[in-house]
Amino acid sequence: MRAIVNAKIVTDKEVLEGYNLLFGKKIIKVTKELPIWAEVIDAKGLYLSAGFIDIHIHGSAGFDVMDASAEALNGIAKSLLQTGTTSFLATTMTMSKEAIEKALTVVQNHKHSDGAKVLGVHLEGPFINEKKHGAQNPEFVQKPNFELIEPYMDVVKMITLAPEVEGGEVFIKHLKEHYPHVILSVGHSNASYEVTKKSFSWGVFHSTHLFNAMNPLHHREPGIVGAVLENEQVSCEIIADLIHVHPLFFNILYKLKKEQLLLVTDAMRAGCMHCGEYDLGGQKVVVTEGEARLKDGTLAGSVLKLNEALKNFYVHSDISLPELIATVTTLPAKKLGLKVGALKEDFPADFVLFDDGFEIYSTFVNGEGVYRKA
Ligand SMILES: [Zn+2]
Repeated sequence: MRAIVNAKIVTDKEVLEGYNLLFGKKIIKVTKELPIWAEVIDAKGLYLSAGFIDIHIHGSAGFDVMDASAEALNGIAKSLLQTGTTSFLATTMTMSKEAIEKALTVVQNHKHSDGAKVLGVHLEGPFINEKKHGAQNPEFVQKPNFELIEPYMDVVKMITLAPEVEGGEVFIKHLKEHYPHVILSVGHSNASYEVTKKSFSWGVFHSTHLFNAMNPLHHREPGIVGAVLENEQVSCEIIADLIHVHPLFFNILYKLKKEQLLLVTDAMRAGCMHCGEYDLGGQKVVVTEGEARLKDGTLAGSVLKLNEALKNFYVHSDISLPELIATVTTLPAKKLGLKVGALKEDFPADFVLFDDGFEIYSTFVNGEGVYRKA
């Protein structure tokens, strides 16, 4: 048994001082006790929380999920530890059927290494609206087609789709009935307010990078944004890089969405890398200071790190630290229905130590220290 002492422990409700975290491969408990046989690690006053979960990330450290190789997936998993991320959904792009199948097969065959855990796949497209393709290649947009993904339903945990396209309703209802654990998310969509509301009754309960790749909120046509803000059961994700969404909306969203707000990075392969030219889903992307754009200026994912997203959101809103940490721990875990993301007895010992600027000092996965700041 090991014990982290002298940490400010962030749970989803409060920040605890004077408590210790006891753990092996799993969390044993958060307690004031300190058994004499425990191997002690001094956190030196840092914050300690459950490891972060990113449900929307394409790549990092020069690798992309669509590279469809074990090397790429492991490379992403390993590099995310420096951002405090201990688990993620490997997110695909709208590409050819063969390219998507190859990427899904790699995730199916993935064996956990010493990086962040791959919880499954977030399928971003190809079932989107080509009018709102963003940085997805419109050439490969397909009508919702369950046959394409059926062999991979053991790893598909989330699907971003446009409910308004032909076949959308049937597809959503089928998934809801047979795979209720899959997060169905409206995104890259041209849906009206009315159609979005209907899609919630069919089975959609999340929204992908709210505000981006959808019509803007308009006072006479509230669109997807209006429908999501109105519905307390529907969650939304935000790319808090200060580029995709104006920080004014951080506080508005926090107040309106409360426990339905999730922070994601939507990072592409240049995440944790330098400026330069990269590729995203077969398209050239130019990365300058903090931004990734196609040649025509379209935002092409981000180069955001999840700990930076937390910092940005914290600085620009009234959210408390426990509520903030919940947006990347307990809330995505609850959406996914998985036993991760909490410092609770018998949960995997995935946790992170960080300072008040959200700089990551140490990351632990299954009780092993897998990253330490140099
Ligand atoms: Zn994305």
